[in-house]
Amino acid sequence: ATSIITGVAGLGGAAGFGRMGIRTLLYYLGTSLLAILTGLILVNLLKPGVGVELGLAQPPDKLAESMSRFGDSPFHAVVRLLLDIVPANPFEAMSEGKILQIIFFCLLFGYFITRLPETPRDTLTRFFESCFEVMMRITHLIISFAPIGIFALVSKTVATTGFEALGGLGIYVITVLVGLAIHAVISLPAVLLIVGRGNPRQHAKAMAPALLTAFSTSSSSATLPLTMESLEKRAGVSNRTTSFVAPLGATVNMDGTALYECVAAMFIAQAYGVELGFGQQLLVVVTALLASIGAAGIPMAGLVMISVILTAVGLPLEGVGLILAVDRVLDMCRTTVNVWSDSCGAAVVERQIGPTEGS
Ligand code: ASP
Repeated sequence: ATSIITGVAGLGGAAGFGRMGIRTLLYYLGTSLLAILTGLILVNLLKPGVGVELGLAQPPDKLAESMSRFGDSPFHAVVRLLLDIVPANPFEAMSEGKILQIIFFCLLFGYFITRLPETPRDTLTRFFESCFEVMMRITHLIISFAPIGIFALVSKTVATTGFEALGGLGIYVITVLVGLAIHAVISLPAVLLIVGRGNPRQHAKAMAPALLTAFSTSSSSATLPLTMESLEKRAGVSNRTTSFVAPLGATVNMDGTALYECVAAMFIAQAYGVELGFGQQLLVVVTALLASIGAAGIPMAGLVMISVILTAVGLPLEGVGLILAVDRVLDMCRTTVNVWSDSCGAAVVERQIGPTEGS
């Protein structure tokens, strides 16, 4: 929550939501959707989860019951989801962990911080930045226990179902990696070339230090200073565009995470033997987009957000258990794609707006 508020509030005044703001948001939404659709097509073609033994008992009748809400119209679930996103009581949403409602409230809250006069705006921005710092530190502490948890979970799975379950994860990993590669090597360069009139190869070279750091830290936020430096000093993007597009992108624009959310949720559904229809897949697309916006730019944030999608389509949350084992390597790759997309976004917006013009 603090990550979104800081991201949006950092836009710097209501003027920030002008021409540059609209183009930036369009780029974020467009490329994230492109990434999700790439993942969706691949996961439907390769079907990595079909026949995978998750080793997680789920009574079929309970599954059927939670899925039965989608019996009516295919679009009902999406409409209901969108209506549900507006919280009647934000504090209730927070105490009950309704993540989509929290994201909605934080986007609104962050936006209105930018509309305040300077003094309260600065106070609130600094307050939420500080809260974000604290949350990052707590998260890092918790994440440091992850290897033990993963060890225990994987041992339990191997002990109960043998190595087949892990073997099944191979195709899942390949699906995510192929999707990420298509997005990073074909889709984003195409956008950069056509909309941003940039040279993708040169841009990639200029961004190399940031991309390598993203890969090794699995954190867009930790990479942010280097992303900004590479954009300004090596890729020739103006300070004005960089300081607008990059910080917001690090928390809000996560193409790699969006793609991963979609593939992972579909994989879990397939492993449970649930065939998702068009309406439910649409629901997965919408929630994957929101989950990628809501994920903070820190390691494993995307994994946690999968629960949002599973809840939305009525799948059991235990499904997250097994994909945990291979999360680290996927996290490194999707974070690199996240940062790559932010940097292409900065170049595209710069080209569209011009280095000095704006708002
Ligand atoms: N680690 C990713 C990032 O910082 C977020 C995620 O877990 O997907 O960009």
